Amino acid sequence: MPPLMHGTAPLTARLEPWMERLLTDPGLCQELIEEHGSPLNLHDFSAMSRNIGELRQTAEEHGTDFQIYLARKANKTIGAIDQAAAEGCGVDVASFRELDQCLKRGVPADRLIVTAAVKSSELLTLAVDNDVVLSLDNVDEALDLLDIAAESGRRVRVALRLASTNPKIAPTRFGLRAEQWLDFLESADRTTGLEVCGIHFHLNGYSAQQRALVLAESLRLIDALRDLGHAPEFVDMGGGIPMSYLDDAAQWTGFWEDLAALPAGDESLTWKSDRLGANGTEPSGSVYPYHQKLIRGEWLKQILASDSEGAGESVAQMLKERGIQLRCEPGRTLLDGCGMTLAEVAFVKTRSDGLPLVGLHMNRTQCRSTSADFLVDPLLLQTGTPRSERVALSAFLVGAYCIEEELILRRRFEFPQGVAAGDLVAFPNTGGYLMHIIESGSHQLPLARNLCWDAGEWAQDSVDKQSIEMELA
Ligand SMILES: *Cc1c(COP(=O)(O)O)cnc(C)c1O
Repeated sequence: MPPLMHGTAPLTARLEPWMERLLTDPGLCQELIEEHGSPLNLHDFSAMSRNIGELRQTAEEHGTDFQIYLARKANKTIGAIDQAAAEGCGVDVASFRELDQCLKRGVPADRLIVTAAVKSSELLTLAVDNDVVLSLDNVDEALDLLDIAAESGRRVRVALRLASTNPKIAPTRFGLRAEQWLDFLESADRTTGLEVCGIHFHLNGYSAQQRALVLAESLRLIDALRDLGHAPEFVDMGGGIPMSYLDDAAQWTGFWEDLAALPAGDESLTWKSDRLGANGTEPSGSVYPYHQKLIRGEWLKQILASDSEGAGESVAQMLKERGIQLRCEPGRTLLDGCGMTLAEVAFVKTRSDGLPLVGLHMNRTQCRSTSADFLVDPLLLQTGTPRSERVALSAFLVGAYCIEEELILRRRFEFPQGVAAGDLVAFPNTGGYLMHIIESGSHQLPLARNLCWDAGEWAQDSVDKQSIEMELA
């Protein structure tokens, strides 16, 4: 059966079995929306196990001591933490609340790392009190931390965030250069009490080659730290491990070719002929590469097997020789297949010039990352009772914020059998970033609820309740 909804240039989502099962039960979807409101974020974390397994298998094949820390910022549910912990993974946290919630949830200190870009003294104190490793970003932060540690008389364990000086790596606001860290450690007598237990970095983009280069650079810094009497144990290469939302490579390349071929102002593929940052027929760098071939295990293999320094030694060998554990902090790729967002159709109408619009009970921050658009086709469930006969329609999805540019997605969609108020639109694979990273409740609209599949039922995640309690506190 042809889909009830697809992009005018289709980008067909890869679905998990749990998503397919749920979508064959429109009655249940409707009940969930009636009970919890629209939009609604649904999570089933069973796929996380597979995603973790793919990474671990590659590490094992290369004899690499390996540990995974879920990047919490990619999804705020407590369910995600529970699943990561149950899989033997740690969690990478980026704020006081994220750390506090993990500690209260029973994640052990050695399974946590604080990588917040800016750290409040409350966050520093909470980490020190609980013996959680902090990724140090700069000298001011290091000195604040030492003050806090001096007051409590506790040791502080840190990873140094390394800003690479390799000319192949783009300049970064995060961390300091190796020589800056070494200067700091050598010059200050105040650094006693600071245990440097690892090196941390996180790169923009998804290049395996770049990570191999910075891993080698990190290991050189580790050698220098050992000479200074420190005993670092790990290199944490951050996140950015690729995933793929689309199976069909031809759809992905075809979309960009079709978009490039459109004359200016032609809205047959995107709103106001939006090129989504593309300049020509290549995929735009302003969106996530929604189709990728090299993901997770295969991608990690490229890093571990690489001889990035040309010294006849692979990254895996360099790690092993030094007895260094490789850590990573994947967010998106661990959550691949773990989330789906449902929203109810509020109305069908036309723009003043006749262009068809489908309005959703949802705003555009509720299925959006920092990418220019989410380039994955939603699915339609015909749960509505149309007030007139359903007829084929080609339309844009608009949302609840009172802004002309309030598009849920920037692409145009076909509804071969029509669409009506009361229908449901399902956005697949939204668990990593799409639900939470920039969600807002402007106009005093409530944030979407989060449900997790738990012991055979859809249960509300406790993060929703905790957020309300903390607002009131
Ligand atoms: C965002 C972030 C991650 C996660 O990145 P993904 O692309 O989701 O894998 C990991 N570590 C740090 C420090 C980050 O800022």
